[in-house]
Amino acid sequence: MGLTSQSTGAGVLASPFRLERTEKDRIVALAGNPNVGKSTVFNGLTGLNQHTGNWPGKTVTHAQGKAVHQDKSFILVDLPGTYSLMANSVEEEIARDFICFGQPHVTVVVADATCLERNLNLVLQTLEITHRVVVCVNLLDEAQKKKIKINLKELSRLLGVPVIGASARSGKGLDALMDAVHAISEGKTETKVQSITYDTVIENALDRIEPTLQTVPAGLSRRWVALRLLDGDKSLLKAFNECFQKDLLENVPLVAALQEAREELSQAGIDSNLLRDKIVSRLVLRAEEICRKAVCYENKLYNLRDRKVDKILTSRTWGIPSMLLLLAVIFWLTITGANYPSSLLATGLFWVEEQLAHFMESIAAPAWVSGLFVEGMWRTLAWVVSVMLPPMAIFFPLFTLLEDAGYLPRVAFNMDHFFRAAGAHGRQSLTMCMGFGCNACGVTGCRIIDSPRERLVAMLTNSF
Ligand code: GDP
Repeated sequence: MGLTSQSTGAGVLASPFRLERTEKDRIVALAGNPNVGKSTVFNGLTGLNQHTGNWPGKTVTHAQGKAVHQDKSFILVDLPGTYSLMANSVEEEIARDFICFGQPHVTVVVADATCLERNLNLVLQTLEITHRVVVCVNLLDEAQKKKIKINLKELSRLLGVPVIGASARSGKGLDALMDAVHAISEGKTETKVQSITYDTVIENALDRIEPTLQTVPAGLSRRWVALRLLDGDKSLLKAFNECFQKDLLENVPLVAALQEAREELSQAGIDSNLLRDKIVSRLVLRAEEICRKAVCYENKLYNLRDRKVDKILTSRTWGIPSMLLLLAVIFWLTITGANYPSSLLATGLFWVEEQLAHFMESIAAPAWVSGLFVEGMWRTLAWVVSVMLPPMAIFFPLFTLLEDAGYLPRVAFNMDHFFRAAGAHGRQSLTMCMGFGCNACGVTGCRIIDSPRERLVAMLTNSF
């Protein structure tokens, strides 16, 4: 069936996305993990035909551009880079809502060929929502350098949707990508997506909920909506209500089915956290399985060393001790290392203070002038600079090195368990470390925490 407004439920949609488009334009959503070359693909396809603004009501940037291919005009919407569509952050919520409710004719998921397995998580989540998907495996040139070979045909067979290889920086593969997008938007490509199968008890719960979701418009997977409802995703309910002006929970059979399904899960010992873990682990296992069949590492040792180190740094036994040791070394370097430049700076700046005091004496300045400028302003500046500058100049570059080496997310992971017990987030440990260098940096660094409540807790803690 073609993409008529009836088939996609367009009649009932009050789109909150305010896209600038005409009836004839086809909408293409561009999704992907951060740093996979999504903007490069977007720029390559739209050229100068683009403009940016903010997503309605959000501070996240929105870029929209136009591309013409085979005489058809496409509006490309660059979604925020995300690792998942579980709506854990504003970016994830925007990406998820646009794919669900923005009615894209096609969703292109850009993936990084050098770490496809991690990227497939987003691809699989997108396929749970819609089958009108084209996967663009970008950075093929980098993969080639690392001797990673991807069997695009096999990948396409396993995912059930078209897969196009690209090196967006040199423009390679972009034409083929638009061919695939065009074919999907015209309904000329048949997709054969295999749903992910969850544990029997979850599948039974889904079977119970799905038939009660008659009001969910075509184009949006009922199975996926059922899964999100089971997961207790309130942001989806809110977005659904806003877009379709319909409260899903006014549907009495649905509420009853949901309650029964939750009871069944709880009898099987599955609470909401465990349910989410089970959903995520199925996605990870499926991604692993697909990569085993479609990706070949000619260099067999690729990743092996990283994985071994990772196992130690995040293990239950060695994770915390190695973290404490590493952070202790950094703090020791900061504190003892800062003593020398601190005393040098203090000597120099206080020598200048003496000279300023002599100068004030020589011009017979009144005591309050000398007190204000020399003992007040200069001495305060000298103390602040000599005490604070050296530790900051040592601590922040060292912290940046840890970040570049990818160690900081491991610290957050190791600490998450403890911080959660206190109603906070593991990432707060990083902002507290930064707060050691400077409270202001600790507070501004809290923006890395997605949940507003946990961000507030971190900001308050860092301010003291
Ligand atoms: P985004 O965060 O997904 O939007 O990623 P960007 O488009 O900003 O790209 C991230 C980096 O990858 C930039 O330095 C790009 O120049 C680079 N890049 C993008 N596509 C390719 C590619 O096909 N090959 C190579 N080697 N680099 C690429």
